[in-house]
Amino acid sequence: MEWEPEALQELEKVPSHVRIMAKMAIEMSLGKKGNTIVTLADVREAEAQFRALMKKDEKTTRIAVVRCDIVSEVCPGVACFNAFNKRKVHFSDYRKDTEIIGFFTCGGCPGRRIFRLVDNLLKHNVDVIHLSSCMLMEKSYSKCPHLEDIKKMITRKGVKVVEGTHH
Ligand code: SF4
Repeated sequence: MEWEPEALQELEKVPSHVRIMAKMAIEMSLGKKGNTIVTLADVREAEAQFRALMKKDEKTTRIAVVRCDIVSEVCPGVACFNAFNKRKVHFSDYRKDTEIIGFFTCGGCPGRRIFRLVDNLLKHNVDVIHLSSCMLMEKSYSKCPHLEDIKKMITRKGVKVVEGTHH
């Protein structure tokens, strides 16, 4: 199926994690009608239909950020919040109505508070927990040596983990 450049540009606005599926759905729908070219109008129409569909069971995504207790002594978390507020880097796929409901430190090695805090966040329907970039980078501080255990512990509780915030 051929895509007009404007149609492709419009498709780029679709969040990356669903873009391929959106492309396939549009092509399938147009293919059934016998169309061979995807236009900007086709993409906009598909977007409108998709939005109408999503509105039915739209749920606000709730996220939280866990960060390194050691780094928190020198970092107030501005870069993490800035990235979230502007939906940048690891927050870029979230909708505008996404809420940040927690921002907490691990409690020190080996992440002793996380277990209890995730339980608490689950009472508030948290969907995703981000591991802050300070836990992952090898810069002023070394990468968290307990990262894998922390990730496993969170995912075992049924919460999605995303590695990174502003880097
Ligand atoms: S467990 Fe990792 S994130 Fe927590 S204080 Fe230790 S190094 Fe930092």
